[in-house]
Amino acid sequence: MTNYKMTNKDQLRCAYQKLGISADVLAFGESILQGLTDRFNEIDVTAEFNQLKVLHAMQSHQISEAHLSGTTGYGYNDIGREALEKVYASVFHTEDALVRPQITCGTHALALALLSNLRPGDELLSPVGKPYDTLESVIGIRPSPGSLAEYQISYRQVDLLPDGSFDWEGIRQAVRKQTKMVTIQRSKGYQTRPTLSTGQIGELIAFIKNLKPDIICLVDNCYGEFVDVTEPSDVGADMTVGSLIKNPGGGLVPSGGYIAGTRPCIEQAAFRLNAPGLGKEVGATSDSLRSIYQGLFLAPSVTAAALKGAIFAANIYEQLGFAVIPGGTEPRYDIIQAVSLGTPEALAAFCQGIQSAAPIDSHVTPLPADMPGYENQVIMAAGAFISGSSIELSADGPMKEPYSVYFQGGLTFTHAKTGILKSLQKLVELGLADVVSGRFIN
Ligand SMILES: *Cc1c(COP(=O)(O)O)cnc(C)c1O
Repeated sequence: MTNYKMTNKDQLRCAYQKLGISADVLAFGESILQGLTDRFNEIDVTAEFNQLKVLHAMQSHQISEAHLSGTTGYGYNDIGREALEKVYASVFHTEDALVRPQITCGTHALALALLSNLRPGDELLSPVGKPYDTLESVIGIRPSPGSLAEYQISYRQVDLLPDGSFDWEGIRQAVRKQTKMVTIQRSKGYQTRPTLSTGQIGELIAFIKNLKPDIICLVDNCYGEFVDVTEPSDVGADMTVGSLIKNPGGGLVPSGGYIAGTRPCIEQAAFRLNAPGLGKEVGATSDSLRSIYQGLFLAPSVTAAALKGAIFAANIYEQLGFAVIPGGTEPRYDIIQAVSLGTPEALAAFCQGIQSAAPIDSHVTPLPADMPGYENQVIMAAGAFISGSSIELSADGPMKEPYSVYFQGGLTFTHAKTGILKSLQKLVELGLADVVSGRFIN
């Protein structure tokens, strides 16, 4: 029953209380939010720009209802798929794009881009240090059947300098006759280095192309889409690659990946995805197209919500004395927030708080568990509509020093806010944080 004498604020406090968030925790959150108005306004302007960019792309290709229903079998003459790839190419300002439900995940999209455009004897260079974990098997850093190494494609790496900047001299020396492709990871992923801005990526690509103009520059754009008004493809990337269960899927896409890039690179990728001779002309879309279009349409505002959630979390935990990467006031080029929680209890409590805020599976308790490919146990929180979707509110962390949690997503800011407050509530209840004095107890 609604009590009409209650103010809006009282009603909100009651609503949060029903979800288990105390008045103290809420008040602490609100005090942090008050300082974020200007920052959030900037994010809204980016989202507005990107929304218009997506809208313009859909209008200029005259998307109509007929494009939303897919094909079966070989998927010949799939006008929805063909137009979708043109829309992606328009959004990313590239000659062409490959956007397919058959691309399983981000790793698959990256593997496709690499394996299709490299040949035996070629070398791949990462000028930004170690790539994302799953790419170690693709490249063959960790031996794996079907890796680039098995096809006699070699790999070199130039680490970032200790201050996170590019090792220009090291890169100059590493670019050789056989260097055919460069892979640049935009997001820090699970490392502590900073995420790269598109400005930095542009500078790096220009430097490399100046050394050897025919090098193909690939950018792993996972978690970076729509965070800024420019994408890597705007600053010289030949291929920009990502997952549809992250930012560009807007939370609606059940599965898929994309590569946006030059016509020759996309053609190679399509031949590899399907078969030599078949290329882009086949690939049934079944009933995936509507959600891929609609997800792209929502992606700028969903990404903005996730970004606000990350900034809110950074400021909350920084205020409480925890180490956060990026810092509360630092610029951001992806949606990932790391918080070093210091103890296994605090890491578990954080994840349990996020889980308890989920629309799905809020009643389950995440526990640390062994995971294939990881040295330490890992704890994960995810209560998502799409399994494994990390544009939805999610958190995970390895059970090792400094007990860092990697937090991302949130389809709406209110949900991200609720999850963060629930994480804090758990810490407060266990005596691991103190919102009244604003101090962190450890
Ligand atoms: C998520 C991600 C990937 C790919 O991961 P999948 O789980 O295969 O989609 C690759 N690189 C980065 C930086 C990522 O964040």
